[in-house]
Amino acid sequence: VNAIDIKGLTKIYSNGVQALKGIDLTVEKGDFYALLGPNGAGKSTTIGILSSLVNMTSGKVNIFGFDLEKQKVKAKLQLGLVPQEFNFNPFETVLQIVVNQAGYYGVNRQEAIIRAERYLSQLELWEKRNDRARMLSGGMKRRLMIARALMHEPQLLILDEPTAGVDIELRRSMWQFLQELNQSGKTIILTTHYLEEAEMLCRNIGIIQKGELIENTSMKALLSKL
Ligand code: ADP
Ligand code: ADP
Repeated sequence: VNAIDIKGLTKIYSNGVQALKGIDLTVEKGDFYALLGPNGAGKSTTIGILSSLVNMTSGKVNIFGFDLEKQKVKAKLQLGLVPQEFNFNPFETVLQIVVNQAGYYGVNRQEAIIRAERYLSQLELWEKRNDRARMLSGGMKRRLMIARALMHEPQLLILDEPTAGVDIELRRSMWQFLQELNQSGKTIILTTHYLEEAEMLCRNIGIIQKGELIENTSMKALLSKL
């Protein structure tokens, strides 16, 4: 079964903007996939639909074999989303934020704390667990968003512009963490407008422009054409 199967996906917003004009896209299980494209191309709309934040206009989307419309709950359990904007409560502690997230997914508290230690440690945040989120640096906040997205142990992690506004040192350490996560079996999709980032990390790449997927190929094949 594929991580993602998208067929004929369209999205017309209520203001009439046609953000997606019929996208077909498959991402295999275990892949590290980049969705690349300029601002306004439709990247956020695509991952918004995948994570059930945006309703599709037409088309068919399967996530690990679960139909996004007919088996929404199961489909949603398969993925963790790391949005671009920080959307945690800044007055909660790091530990509260990740443990509560697990709670939303029905994970019991004891297990939630075990997972919190695992993911916060991997992201070098365990020492900060009792700090309020607003006290963290920008890079730590971003890592907190990743830890939170992993708490229900989804098979697929989707990151929207994960290194936007992140300095080069932190960018490298995040790249390394994401690579390790992928090597441990997690499927990863990220959006970016840096070809360099996609090149560093990704096995396969889709290029989206004006709501259409104009390229869907391996990174190797793309680079040999440039
Ligand atoms: P990207 O993530 O590649 O920058 P988006 O998916 O955000 O692209 O946007 C695709 C198009 O849809 C753009 O023309 C954008 O202005 C429009 N759009 C995005 N979100 C909305 C919305 N909530 N309502 C109306 N139009 C939107
Ligand atoms: P706890 O440690 O129990 O989470 P907090 O003092 O951190 O308690 O905050 C309790 C709630 O009050 C939080 O959900 C937070 O949203 C809200 N809160 C705390 N301080 C402020 C503030 N300065 N402005 C707005 N909301 C706040």
